[in-house]
Parts: sequence; structure tokens; C-alpha cells
Amino acid sequence: MSRKHPLLVGLTGGIGSGKSTTAKIFQILGIPCYFADDRAKWLMANDPKLVESIKASFGTESYLEDGAVNRVYLGETVFSDPEKVKKINSLVHPAVAKDFNSWAENQTSPYVLKEAALIFETGSHKDLDQVINVSSPIKVRISRVLMRDNHRSIEQVHQIIDQQMPDENKNELADFVIKNVDNKLLIPQVLKIHEALLAKS
Ligand code: ATP
Repeated sequence: MSRKHPLLVGLTGGIGSGKSTTAKIFQILGIPCYFADDRAKWLMANDPKLVESIKASFGTESYLEDGAVNRVYLGETVFSDPEKVKKINSLVHPAVAKDFNSWAENQTSPYVLKEAALIFETGSHKDLDQVINVSSPIKVRISRVLMRDNHRSIEQVHQIIDQQMPDENKNELADFVIKNVDNKLLIPQVLKIHEALLAKS
């Protein structure tokens, strides 16, 4: 008898919106969470097919002698060129989607979460059953990120925000919206969505 697949739920939100913080609350409730951005970095260094395709597209210099990703080289030659960013995303995103699906198949919970900054932007919501957007005003997000990341300037944070879909659009596309603002508690919002997702699964 084939086992029922858990419901696949995306958890997205702009930089500094509070996705990871929200994901941790779901994890406390026993919901497995796949952190797509961290996993993408791991796959870029460890998935042999992905490593080969990155080397074929951007040169063997994309990797250091010890096999680690050459972040300086990729930062200078790939991430500064929008066309090349599109190309590397077209290699990394399918590898992450495949990895997420095989991870999800091995989970026994009623639903699982895929936490990712870009879900609607990459079209990966089409492979998910439900999407939650964590929403916060831009000013709040910028101040949270500047407090968290010493290495980032305000200009860099703005640059990342400009590359992401505006919050209002994501709120319209999402099945659930979590408002992560100072006057609204996160935990009760997560509990409500958790109950709704359990009912759907
Ligand atoms: P990124 O896209 O950069 O990975 P993120 O959406 O995952 O960001 P978090 O890392 O969860 O965001 O949150 C950004 C920062 O704001 C963290 O330092 C976190 O502790 C803090 N933060 C998140 N939500 C709140 C809140 N409700 N009150 C106070 N601080 C918060």
C-alpha cells in the first residue's frame, strides 16, 4: 500500500520578515521544516550532478581545490550579472525541488514546511499545496536585518528587497498571511494556521 504524501506547505516572506523565526515555532509543534536556502548552499557543494553542471556553465574556477564553492569567484562573475543569475538559478532550483520532494516523502507528519525567501518568484508554489507568507513593513525588516547582520549595509538590504516580489503581491497569492509586527503576537497566528493545515491534511 502506498503511503500518503504529507501536505507540502511553503513558508515565504521577504528578507527580515521573520520566516526562520516562524519556522522555529512550527518545528516546536513537531512540523518538519526544510530550509531551502541553506540546503541550496549544501547541494551546490555536495550534489555531484549540480557541481558538474555549475562547472560546465561557469568554469572549474567555480570551486576551490577542496571542493568548496568559490563564493568570491561566483560573487564577482555570476551574481553581478542578472542573466547569469537566471542561469545558475535554473540549475540550482530543480536540484532543490528534487531534494525537497525526496526529503518530504520520508516525513511522517501530516504536513511539512519548505522555508524559502523566493517561492512565488521562482514558480515553486506550483509544486506546493499551500503557501504561508510572513509579512512585515519594509522599515521593520530593514532594522531587523541591520541588527542581525553586521556584514550588510542598508544599501545591500534595499538591493535584495528590490529583487523580491513586493509583500502586497505575495499576501494576495498566499493561502495564509502571518503579520509579524511588534503589536501582533506570532505564536497565536502560527497555532491558528497549524490547526487549519491539520484539518486540510
Ligand atoms: P532572511 O530572509 O534574511 O533569512 P527571515 O525572514 O528568515 O530573514 P528572521 O531571521 O526570522 O527573518 O528574522 C530577522 C531578524 O528579526 C532576526 O534577528 C529575528 O530574531 C528578528 N525578529 C523576527 N521576528 C521578530 C519579532 N516579532 N520581534 C522581534 N524580533 C524579531
